[in-house]
Amino acid sequence: MMDEYYDDENGDSIYANDLTSELLNVQELLKNNSLDELLKIDRDNIREKEKEKQWYHGRIARDVAEDILKKGLVKHGNMDGLFLVRESSFSSSSFVLSLYSKGIFFHFQINEVKSAHFSIDQGPTVHGLDRLIQNYQEQAQGLPTHLTLFCKCKPPPDEQRYSGVTNLLHRAVLENIPEVVKQILASKYCPSVNAKSEWGMTALHDACYYGFEDVADLLIRNGANVNCFDKDGQTPLHRCCTGNKAGIISILIQEGNANVNERNPKSGWIPIHQAAYKGYLDCIKILLDYHSPYLPRADDDTTPLDLAENYEHADCVKEIEQFEQPKVITHKYDWFHPEIDRQGGQKLLELKGLREGLFLVRSSKKNPDWHVLTLCHDQKVFNYEIKTKNYRDRHMYFIDDGPFYKCLEHLIQYYSYHANGLPCALSVSVNTTRELVQISKDDEYFNLVDTAHRFPTNVSPALPPRPEDLDMTYSESDNPPVSNAAHHHAPLPPSPTPPTSSPPPPPNHPPPISKQHSITKKPEVELRQIDRKLLSLGKEIGQGEFGSVVKGHYKKKPTGRGKTEKIDVAIKLFHKTAINNQEDFLKEARTMQQLEHDCIVNFIGIAESDNHELMLVEEYIAMGSMLDYLIDHRENIKKTDLYLWAAQIAYGMMYLEQQKMVHRDLAARNILLQSKERAKISDFGLSRAVGSNSDYYKATTGGRWPIKWYAPECVNYGHFSHASDVWSFGVTLWEMFSYGEPPYGDMKGIEVIKFIEEGKRLAKPENCPEIAYTQMKKCWNNEPRDRPTFKALNTHFQSEDEYVSTRDFMKTIRK
Ligand code: AMP
Repeated sequence: MMDEYYDDENGDSIYANDLTSELLNVQELLKNNSLDELLKIDRDNIREKEKEKQWYHGRIARDVAEDILKKGLVKHGNMDGLFLVRESSFSSSSFVLSLYSKGIFFHFQINEVKSAHFSIDQGPTVHGLDRLIQNYQEQAQGLPTHLTLFCKCKPPPDEQRYSGVTNLLHRAVLENIPEVVKQILASKYCPSVNAKSEWGMTALHDACYYGFEDVADLLIRNGANVNCFDKDGQTPLHRCCTGNKAGIISILIQEGNANVNERNPKSGWIPIHQAAYKGYLDCIKILLDYHSPYLPRADDDTTPLDLAENYEHADCVKEIEQFEQPKVITHKYDWFHPEIDRQGGQKLLELKGLREGLFLVRSSKKNPDWHVLTLCHDQKVFNYEIKTKNYRDRHMYFIDDGPFYKCLEHLIQYYSYHANGLPCALSVSVNTTRELVQISKDDEYFNLVDTAHRFPTNVSPALPPRPEDLDMTYSESDNPPVSNAAHHHAPLPPSPTPPTSSPPPPPNHPPPISKQHSITKKPEVELRQIDRKLLSLGKEIGQGEFGSVVKGHYKKKPTGRGKTEKIDVAIKLFHKTAINNQEDFLKEARTMQQLEHDCIVNFIGIAESDNHELMLVEEYIAMGSMLDYLIDHRENIKKTDLYLWAAQIAYGMMYLEQQKMVHRDLAARNILLQSKERAKISDFGLSRAVGSNSDYYKATTGGRWPIKWYAPECVNYGHFSHASDVWSFGVTLWEMFSYGEPPYGDMKGIEVIKFIEEGKRLAKPENCPEIAYTQMKKCWNNEPRDRPTFKALNTHFQSEDEYVSTRDFMKTIRK
């Protein structure tokens, strides 16, 4: 085959394939061509090679994606499997596969399971969007069809890829010619500094592996990402440790704020694990100088000491074993309060103003060997168990999957440098005489704390929030704020000699790993969007967690031929000020979209207002909140009404259980009345899917929890299940039969917890029939398995003679 010529702008020409065959090194190519000429040829060469990956369209809306696909279908004759990939319009770095098959447009959410590892639905988790799409081009694997042609735009972003095309920058870096690297970086034709080579490395990864210090320095100064992962899940710091290039470690940390705690998403190894595995003593020493933990734990609990020993690196074993922790600057009496309990810890921190990073340590009630770190972040209090474990005959302290430390002081000192999984680093403590003490750090390393903030690791908080982490229900008085004398729903909460052509993948794979990260993240459905122009907004009807709720109209387009229908809707507005909560708002919308039941408020869609605020549109429920109705219309409510609503709520909850969903906020304020004959469950802001192999959802993040409606296992362990929803149902029944009284009166959340722990329960409301109160008490059984199911509750409220009136009404419910 004839080589193709490339004509440059001046009419001079060179063999394009001289550049691409990589027989010539960059310096030789530069003898006959200007750098800009070479870069332009390189750019065209990359475009040519990336032609098959130009399926990425950036951030476009769903309807725009469908329009593009429709045009593609006209061009390609209704080609089944025509597709494109786009960024989700609702959450950045989340992607959607838009696909045409057999007359239908499908939109599949692409989930980022862990850094740059993606999956669709229950399909396999694959490193890189590029490899994910390639897999689905080969096989349908559960999609309606395998992917065939695509609508052309551009290749996927660098950081979400497994590999790319080796460019001139990669080659100049591999040839270690800083002058040329500098010129390339200054050229307007410079490729992306974070582009990946065909070996899945960025230029910085290569510079680090080969130890090209000047080049690494230049790359960092020109925006190279110091914490990005290569195809083996290694950061540039890991690469230094694979290539034994201790000198660059300082450059990465000092110039680039590289994070010594960054975990390899495939194994949980941090850089010092890599150095210990390879037996590179200098790297270990310098990492320790930069406050790397010396006994961090990988996903399978392996420490660098275990690796050094297994791979027989005696000098490294000695170094780690004999490593002397720098003298601690912090002392136990600065923060340890052995006498204080949970509540006391909370109170003391509140008294000291809940400032960011304020903390104390107390004893654990669960285990006499354990402690609890009580820490303020974002004006809330979080508690983390400091557990102990016997490791090599030593008593070690640790938090969650964090490093081992021989003593508490060292652990505290470590977390004052690195947040590493905690919401923030420790900065100020309360000492035994209740004064504030600034945790001293030597200034040289102060930046490291910043690093932890800027590049957070994927470690989750150690524990679910304990009740004292949370705002105990709503207001100071622990009751929802009052309006119209009613309790409204309140806001909750890589050869030592560098090759001249592309190098083979470096021998750096860690040994097989025993434990993988969980990949059971539930796929997210794409949200149904509606056109803003079809909506009109009316008066405010309530205040929700994210903003106001207004009544409105929606011009619903008919599915067939008929006329446009104007329907009443309730529109939940998402205020810009609540921007941090956007994901929660969208979560609520996604949950609602999956539900369809006569006893559950129907989701219509999501729209964007003219000033880009989000709106959640749902069916309008005319009589509003059941709680308000109970309070305002007590005299019009018959027992039979209450029985019917109870049966309907249990029926809706039965459906929710079939959908493997827990509500987590079942309360009278969250039941809406469409009519006196129809109650509907609403407010799915706290709702979560339970795993396919478990029957509970484990909460790992804080928020505002309605403690008074929660079962003990929710409060104590963050375990939410259908049985804990049943407990809340019991409290809801109590609210109904007491016509909207606040449960537990003026008691504070913490008092309620104690009250329940003592075996006490809410008293029978006045005039409440014994048969109904008996059901409530069953719902409040300490043992989740001994509580009735929603099915049993639904049956109960229809089958007993007392409830004869509900049966006919229940028959009218379709599902
Ligand atoms: P929420 O954000 O769901 O707690 O809603 C706050 C308040 O807005 C509720 O207490 C109701 O009064 C009102 N509201 C919410 N959704 C609807 C709806 N679909 N129809 C009528 N009123 C609603």
